[in-house]
Amino acid sequence: MAQLPPFEHTPLDSIASTVKGIRTSFLSHKTRPLEFRLVQLRKLYWGLKDNTDLILEACKKDLGKSQFETYLTEVGWCMNDIVFMSNNLARFAKDEAPPDIALTNKLFGPRIRKDPLGSVLVIGAYNFPIQLSIGPLIGAIAAGCTAVLKPSESAPNAAAIMQKIVAESLDPSCYTVIQGAIPETTALLDQKWDKIFYTGSANVGTIIAKKAAETLTPVTLELGGRNPAIITKHADPKLAAKRLLWAKTLNAGQVCVSQNFTLIDKEIVPVVIKEMNNTLKEFYPQGAKNSPDYGRIVNLRQFQRLKKMLDDSNGKIVVGGTMDEQDLFIEPTVVQVNSMEDSLIKDESFGPLLPILPVADLDEAIKIANEVHDTPLGVYSFGNKQEMEKVLSQTRSGGASLNDGFFHASIPTLAFGGVGTSGQGAYRGKASFDVFTHRRSITTTPAWIESMLDIRYPPYTLKKQQK
Ligand code: NAD
Repeated sequence: MAQLPPFEHTPLDSIASTVKGIRTSFLSHKTRPLEFRLVQLRKLYWGLKDNTDLILEACKKDLGKSQFETYLTEVGWCMNDIVFMSNNLARFAKDEAPPDIALTNKLFGPRIRKDPLGSVLVIGAYNFPIQLSIGPLIGAIAAGCTAVLKPSESAPNAAAIMQKIVAESLDPSCYTVIQGAIPETTALLDQKWDKIFYTGSANVGTIIAKKAAETLTPVTLELGGRNPAIITKHADPKLAAKRLLWAKTLNAGQVCVSQNFTLIDKEIVPVVIKEMNNTLKEFYPQGAKNSPDYGRIVNLRQFQRLKKMLDDSNGKIVVGGTMDEQDLFIEPTVVQVNSMEDSLIKDESFGPLLPILPVADLDEAIKIANEVHDTPLGVYSFGNKQEMEKVLSQTRSGGASLNDGFFHASIPTLAFGGVGTSGQGAYRGKASFDVFTHRRSITTTPAWIESMLDIRYPPYTLKKQQK
């Protein structure tokens, strides 16, 4: 039976020459033909398929993820994206004509070519280690870029299996994986790139953006944030409880786009809490700890950070609350808090802790949500149609799901990204191709048109000016 490969840091002194090789390959134009890109995508598809068992094992080891969840959110997710991209690549890569051009301008054949940006760096996060690394890589390959992938060292087994897949499946002169943490990433950031695609925290995103600015390198930043969910008194409390708990128990709540806090009309707080308790029993009849379907916190550092958030909270635990440090287990835990200053709301929890705050009405909920973070990654609202539309029209966010937790992020052809401090740029579907593509404006001036162009050449005689 195949074994998981070991995770090994890439030697720091090899990074500059590796990146140089990747750049040289781009400049050899090898990745330009669509056929080359399609072959690479196909090979990546089979690399993922052939190594599915190892990926399932890696995600179990790194995050305690169930096989079903890993298949749904990592392996199948990426394979599906590859199929979509391969089926649509020729259409995406085709030249576009500008809209509504005057007849005279048509003579110059104006068009937009889709050129690859060049050699790009993809830096992944740990929580969906395969999806958040391979997903952008699919876009880079499709667009005709060469790429270096730097997965998160916090999910070492997933990082190692991706390195094996990339090395065995893709053209090694064009795509490679560099493993490591801050020193290796810093060495990578010292190289010249044509784009940096980063997924992770806003703090590190700021470091990346600053460094990239020194060389005017474009960045796409997929960051985190404190996403609000709002439940009005007209919502179905059972449905809201079930859908929001799904969004907070998947991957043990380590999801950038899940709700960080929930504002609930005070009239229905007791019934929502009751429904949340019922839902958890439905999800995990033997308790979350004994369920093969519930994941674990990625490492001790993150476990202790979450434990401290809960310890420092002044709220009352109304659902769950148990933990086991040895097992990195934190039960899905709902805490009714008294203020927006509570430790569970002040920072992004990025774990299965769900603070709820009673509010007077929808207006108060929207006001509070906007004060906490006026451009979160996601906003979620439950209520009647008018109320949910009101939430949309009075807030900003990268995306939003109405009557659900983060469902918008699971639509494969819907562009995904943040706005303001939750990120910039988007990917998935066609957006994955666009994000690594330069739209190059082109005209072709026919020789026979010269007499018509005479007017543009000096001297600008009176006769020309009067034309
Ligand atoms: P992180 O920022 O700690 O790490 C992400 C990547 O940055 C890793 O590859 C890491 O090696 C690298 N890195 C860390 N410190 C660095 C430094 N000082 N200099 C250079 N590189 C450095 O993020 P994480 O802990 O893996 O993920 C959690 C955060 O990511 C949360 O805030 C979450 O909301 C966010 N996130 C966002 C998305 C999204 O799509 N918007 C997806 C997943 C996670």
